[in-house]
Amino acid sequence: MERLQKVMARAGVASRRQSEKLIEQGKVKVNGNVVKELGFKVNPQQDEIEVNDKKIKKEKLVYILLNKPKECVTTVSDPKGRRTVVDLVKVRERVYPVGRLDYDTEGLLLLTNDGEVAYALTHPSHQVSKKYLATVDGVPNDAKLKALERGVQLSDGWTAPAKAERVVEFNNKSIVSLEIYEGRKHQVKRMLKSVGHPVLELKRIKMGPLSLDEDLKLGTYRFLNKNEIDELK
Ligand code: URA
Repeated sequence: MERLQKVMARAGVASRRQSEKLIEQGKVKVNGNVVKELGFKVNPQQDEIEVNDKKIKKEKLVYILLNKPKECVTTVSDPKGRRTVVDLVKVRERVYPVGRLDYDTEGLLLLTNDGEVAYALTHPSHQVSKKYLATVDGVPNDAKLKALERGVQLSDGWTAPAKAERVVEFNNKSIVSLEIYEGRKHQVKRMLKSVGHPVLELKRIKMGPLSLDEDLKLGTYRFLNKNEIDELK
């Protein structure tokens, strides 16, 4: 839900200030009723807004798959003025990130204005799969991979069953693929650290039915196709 004058301004009706005046003058209706209250909140995709008895276009639902770069925060705005994931996508609709990736984590991040899809993907009871490639210090042996799969003890409790595989080893480092079905803070880093293999680099390559395209450059994005959107619903 968003302030009426903000939605009007984004639709190109008038500036924010002029939109406030139109509201105060009783020239704006929401779902058929005149609204004069400036703090009034509307759903920009669902509510019928009329200005001088002329309907304004409802906002469409947008679904964006971003390849998040490092040095970028997964929020809509940052008090420290750092670059945000929302700064990277140039769309008129107000989208927000679904779930979190750390400042130094790269990879697949969905941004949308569809609150239902965002909820479905992030609610813990849905246990949506998230797959990461972690470059770690050292090479975890089979026992450690088994431990990661069965569950390891973190400060906030044991982790749920996961999938872990060694992908490649080089110079006393390795890449481990870790698929988890929870979303605790810094979970992948904490899990790998707990078995003695601190994470050096982290990238998410899958979330639910979505996969990161190999040719999608860091910091760039694409819109989901119809099949992907259907699979999210
Ligand atoms: N786990 C982490 O430790 N960091 C992320 O960014 C995502 C999952």
